[in-house]
Amino acid sequence: MRHCCAAALALLTLWSGVWVPALAQTPSLTVLARDGRKPLPITPINNQDYVAVDDMNAAFGTTSREDRLAGGLTIIARTRSIVLTADQNVVSVSGRLVSLPAAPVRRDNRWFVPVDFLPRALALALDLRLDLRRATRLLIVGDLRVPRVVARVDAGTTDVAVTFEVTPNVEARITTQQGRILVRFDADALELSIPTLPPQTFLSGIAAGDTPAGVVLITGPRYASHRVITTQADAGSGRVTIDLLPATTTDQPAPAPPGPPPPDMRPSIASQGPSTGLRTVVLDPGHGGEELGTQGAKGTLEKEITLAVARRLRTLIESRLGLKVFLTREDDRTMSLDDRSAFANNHQADVFLSLHANSAVRPAVKGAEVYFLTVERADAEARKRADDLQTTLPALGGGTRAIDLILWETAQARYLEQSASLAGFIEQALRTRIEMSPRAVQQAPFRVLVGANMPAALVEIGYLSNGDQETQLTSGSYQDQVAQALLDALIKFRELLEH
Ligand SMILES: [Zn+2]
Repeated sequence: MRHCCAAALALLTLWSGVWVPALAQTPSLTVLARDGRKPLPITPINNQDYVAVDDMNAAFGTTSREDRLAGGLTIIARTRSIVLTADQNVVSVSGRLVSLPAAPVRRDNRWFVPVDFLPRALALALDLRLDLRRATRLLIVGDLRVPRVVARVDAGTTDVAVTFEVTPNVEARITTQQGRILVRFDADALELSIPTLPPQTFLSGIAAGDTPAGVVLITGPRYASHRVITTQADAGSGRVTIDLLPATTTDQPAPAPPGPPPPDMRPSIASQGPSTGLRTVVLDPGHGGEELGTQGAKGTLEKEITLAVARRLRTLIESRLGLKVFLTREDDRTMSLDDRSAFANNHQADVFLSLHANSAVRPAVKGAEVYFLTVERADAEARKRADDLQTTLPALGGGTRAIDLILWETAQARYLEQSASLAGFIEQALRTRIEMSPRAVQQAPFRVLVGANMPAALVEIGYLSNGDQETQLTSGSYQDQVAQALLDALIKFRELLEH
């Protein structure tokens, strides 16, 4: 689910307030240096990005001299010289040969070199670090820290989560100003991708900030407060989630009076303790209908994979364990995240499993991952509610204080320990059958898990962004292995509940 909105990257922005359309009319490379930035025009030749040598000379203080007879060009960069020949994709940098993906071109009395010339040959001649970010047409000069920051927006019906995936990871400081949340990354600039936003009541916009490494969230009328969840996704990247929340007073009763606690606000959520048995399982095939989920290079849709695996798993559970199994969706339909957990609550499920397939920017990333709700979020939520409503909530970790007022959104907080066990069993079982991600078990603030009033976990069964995994995910045998592993995990979990 983390990838839901990541695909819609319509705008790329590199610096404060400057929006660079992804398909600009006059393309240019942005040269980003300590003292500022400047555009370097790009000329497409034979489907490759080229820069004119005279433009490069102006940008980097190099000079060039043409040898018409030899059909060559010499570029003087400080004390070194680069010799290139038209139609030869090897150039000499002070006698050292450097190959290019395409040959220099002489056209209309101007010389052009492919953009790779800059990091490969010019950087060598100038003894300077030049980092070419091809996707965003960014050339970083020197040791500037310019992490890639990919924003995505996950809209629930009662909140909106904005997540920034930061590679390489740097710290972020979040502050608020009137109507704005400012996110400042500890960097010199950002390579920032922002999704197009559908109309939101919590969030009216995301934009590059007034500082080079800042991003601004412009909050909407329903926004009242926010929560920040920071995770180190792996050694190289990190994640910051800002959860925008409504005012609690709009849909909650007045603070509880002193004395006996008020009755349940939602009678449909039984005031039961942690589960003591396993009778009913709700499986949640992620996405559906208009919401495709992630998509593989060969066109495989996450929503189809999740439904196929859920059906296989249902058959296994029914035939082997004789339990009642419900799917949140039986077919290809759109369904909100809150409706999914509500479905599980209404069916009085003893366990809730949400199934997804993952995607990553780097195609090499693969393996299955298991999530349960992050404690920080539930804790923060519980504390916030407790403050707001002057009621008591159970101590996580086996405390004896009974919950007095059950709120839909804090439902999952009571099952975190069981959910953690469930996630652990799933991870162990999957590991015997399929490849696991290095981050096999994680906690995350998944919206679909928050409202579940039973132990719950979310399983990303593989990466559709990895070519091999896409093939696996579409195969019946891989889907069977996943289903069998989840069945094994449920058997373990049943033993735990009945112990
Ligand atoms: Zn998903």
